[in-house]
Amino acid sequence: MPELPEAEANRRRIEDQCLNRTIEEAVPGDNVTYIDLPGDNEAKRLVGRRFTETHRHGKLIFAGSKTGPWICVHLGMTGSLIPFDEGEDEQPGATKFLIRFEGSRALAFRCPRKLGWLRVVDSPEEEIERIGFGPDAMAISRDDFVEVIGGTNGAVKSALIEQKKIAGVGNLWSDEILFAMGIMPGRKASELDEKTLRKMHGVMQDTLAAVMDTNADYSQLPDSWLISHRKVGAECRKCGGTIAKKTVGGRSAYHCDSHQS
Ligand SMILES: [Zn+2]
Repeated sequence: MPELPEAEANRRRIEDQCLNRTIEEAVPGDNVTYIDLPGDNEAKRLVGRRFTETHRHGKLIFAGSKTGPWICVHLGMTGSLIPFDEGEDEQPGATKFLIRFEGSRALAFRCPRKLGWLRVVDSPEEEIERIGFGPDAMAISRDDFVEVIGGTNGAVKSALIEQKKIAGVGNLWSDEILFAMGIMPGRKASELDEKTLRKMHGVMQDTLAAVMDTNADYSQLPDSWLISHRKVGAECRKCGGTIAKKTVGGRSAYHCDSHQS
């Protein structure tokens, strides 16, 4: 499931390939029942406009302009935003919404499992507030992180992935952060001392930044990371322990049974 670094890789594609081109058409794709997409009138608000800037907050991706409107995209489990040139490239499969710019450039919102969504909104700030997401994981200050996570009664993994506390960390990268910290995903967040939480803030931002540096190409990540061996029974490349899985807050939590406690 796409998290902050994967959303950032999608945002960069729009930034590089879709800005400053007049939108000629914005239409739903095929098989779009049960997916949250703009209605005709909302979609028409985009026509004649240009995207001049992009923004990302947690897992949300925005493209728009100072005066709006903006598209706001959540990729769900399997979504992606793919710029392409009609006539040269094939339209990506499972396109649920298509924006055609002047010339041949187009932007496809792919969403095979329909768990993502695309909306037309007035501004990123208003939409983030309406949804109620907390600060972006790359922007939250160390003090705020300590307060938000340390003030949680539940498991530390559940606290890290609660988007209303901090936006952007999900199942995959919360496991990686706790693996790097040597902390079990089920440990109570409120029992972690301030020094540990201050360190975790840095590990979270370093982990996400490293994934963003590769544009979310996991094959370029260090072999010592959990993601390269995220399988029950695999050997931990940090300590020689064994990778195990348990359920924390209803989510699968992969961890090392030896160096995490
Ligand atoms: Zn280990």
